[in-house]
Amino acid sequence: MKKLIIFNWKMAPQLLGEAKRLLAYNLRRMTNNKNTEIIVCPPFIYLSGLSSVVSRRSSVKLGAQNVFWESSGAYTGEISPTMLKDLDIEYVIIGHSERRKYLNETDEMINKKILASLKAGLKVILCVGEDLAIRRRGKKAVENFIEKQLEKDLRGLSKVKSQKSKVIVAYEPVWAISTSKSSHSDTPEDALEIIKYIKSLVISQWSVVIPVLYGGSADSKNIADFLKYKEINGALVGQASLKIGEVRKIIEIVSSCGS
Ligand code: PEP
Repeated sequence: MKKLIIFNWKMAPQLLGEAKRLLAYNLRRMTNNKNTEIIVCPPFIYLSGLSSVVSRRSSVKLGAQNVFWESSGAYTGEISPTMLKDLDIEYVIIGHSERRKYLNETDEMINKKILASLKAGLKVILCVGEDLAIRRRGKKAVENFIEKQLEKDLRGLSKVKSQKSKVIVAYEPVWAISTSKSSHSDTPEDALEIIKYIKSLVISQWSVVIPVLYGGSADSKNIADFLKYKEINGALVGQASLKIGEVRKIIEIVSSCGS
């Protein structure tokens, strides 16, 4: 299976010109890579401007960082799945921990977003993960928390059977991502255990094998240690996405890990 690398630009850079330069620079390193699929998720406002930079033949795809659950209507400030499809966007991140925390996104909202996105034909990158207090209670507590998150976020998925394989899960231990300021990092072995658990849950409940990525501060220094495990199908990369040298190194490392 190809390794999937998702670069989440979050709310950066501040100018469209910078975003175009960053993507154009990175594209020179990213194209024609057989082992790796690369998805760049810039802020919404850049998607249209950047789609002309990414050619249809490129192995790099654009994704969105969020979406709304209705396809149209009076929802000020929101972006619908249909609008994303119209720009040829294939992927959308849903349930990122920063949205859960700062925008009070609940599992119920996340579930509605997932169902609407799948219905519109988007592929969903669902973020799940525990905070430090849960991690400190031990592995069983983490598993219970993630099981509940997945159950709520993916509720009703069986109604869109043909779409189940369009879900990708990113396991992001909230305490390990760069913005958490907890100064803790995950070991590849701990992440692997949880990723295997997520896969086994999804197989038993939805009878489908889906890619599960790691997303707790992956960068060029640690990515090989995570991706050497075949069960870890790729990474969701935040902060390092905006560092030019990092992206090049990450792509080179991942290309050599792919099978
Ligand atoms: C993220 O928040 O999506 C993420 C992976 O962040 P970082 O790599 O900066 O920890």
